[in-house]
Amino acid sequence: MEFNYTENQRMIADMIRDFGAKHIKPKMMEWDESQEFPVEVFKKLGELGLMGVLVPTEYGGSGFGYLEYVTAIAELSKIDGSIGLSMAAHNSLCTGHILQFGNEAQKKQYLPKLATAEWIGAWGLTEPNTGSDAGNMRTVAVQDGDYWVINGAKNFITHGKSGNVAVVIVRTGEVGDSHGMTAFIIEKGTPGFSAGRKEDKLGMRASETTELIFEDCRVHKDQMLGKVGEGFIQAMKVLDGGRISIAALSLGIAQGAFEAALAYSQERSQFNKPISSFQGISFKLADMATEIEAASLLTYQAADMKNRGLNVNKESAMAKLYASEVSVRVANEGVQIFGGYGFTKDYPAEKYYRDAKLCTIGEGTSEIQKLVISRAILK
Ligand SMILES: Cc1cc2nc3c(=O)[nH]c(=O)nc-3n(C[C@H](O)[C@H](O)[C@H](O)COP(=O)(O)OP(=O)(O)OC[C@H]3O[C@@H](n4cnc5c(N)ncnc54)[C@H](O)[C@@H]3O)c2cc1C
Repeated sequence: MEFNYTENQRMIADMIRDFGAKHIKPKMMEWDESQEFPVEVFKKLGELGLMGVLVPTEYGGSGFGYLEYVTAIAELSKIDGSIGLSMAAHNSLCTGHILQFGNEAQKKQYLPKLATAEWIGAWGLTEPNTGSDAGNMRTVAVQDGDYWVINGAKNFITHGKSGNVAVVIVRTGEVGDSHGMTAFIIEKGTPGFSAGRKEDKLGMRASETTELIFEDCRVHKDQMLGKVGEGFIQAMKVLDGGRISIAALSLGIAQGAFEAALAYSQERSQFNKPISSFQGISFKLADMATEIEAASLLTYQAADMKNRGLNVNKESAMAKLYASEVSVRVANEGVQIFGGYGFTKDYPAEKYYRDAKLCTIGEGTSEIQKLVISRAILK
């Protein structure tokens, strides 16, 4: 099995490398330090077609498939994981949910704005007390004529404050019933809908993460995605695709950490030799390269299957589980290879190390991926 870059993938990779050198690298440590979410970068990514990678051209998107999508996120994350994470959340979650489950009017209304990054999208499933156990959510929507009145809070929402629109999944039925939840599209500025506290994070610091608060927020029934009771099932399907993008994010961070460590190991001398000549270092590099290759194969396999319309529930969880754990291991070894310099902000190793950890948590922790995989193989 071979996954050589197609012409489109090569074009995307080159474009992102150029873009990153010009618009991301010079500022990324500043954003990291101040936790600034650089909205202008996303507007520019929108101009390049990277905020609607999977959106068909008729809705203003690029009309690409998952191979191009994985390449775009991995290349971006090689440079800065925060930008990769935000791009993944915008494309896979908010935009992806509307693309998969929106009716024609909703797609026409929202996709062109999201695909061009005129609007930034957020997606709210997690709550303060329900993360892995999202089906136990307590944010509730009660019908009142043509409207639904929402009360509650969502937690850890990417673009919760800067997002112009959010897809949120809320309870409309009994607790414990997987058909007791419904998804709604809610625009910023809707009375009763606001952003709460912004998280102060270990890594992915330029990707904004906030609470969403709902206080008697009235949403018209036309804003519902699909039918009453379909929200949780829709969310699980959205995550099946989303996990491929987190595998790509993990892959990019691992590749960036590896390339930096590889170069450094050949420049840094100790005992009158480059440190790469020590087997203790070269074997680390061998392990890192091998694991990255394996993570890449799993990720592109899931992407290829998704393109072919196959069920990727197990494969996307495997790719996400393995690639994210590899990302953490590779970033950790990267810091080790840089020695004391790896512990400073003068080199990129420490940032990869901090950013990588999110990959084993977001869109389902490693433990939850194992739950998904074991359920699939024990069926
Ligand atoms: C930077 C960032 C961005 C995010 N963006 C979004 C977003 O845009 N939208 C959104 O909805 N959410 C988002 N999340 C939330 C994310 O998906 C959750 O944090 C994640 O699903 C884990 O939930 P939790 O944090 O509540 O941890 P918990 O569910 O409380 O888990 C705590 C620990 O218990 C383990 N655990 C839980 N259940 C089991 C089990 N059954 N078996 C074994 N172990 C278990 C977990 O694996 C973990 O190790 C984001 C999170 C972060 C940090």
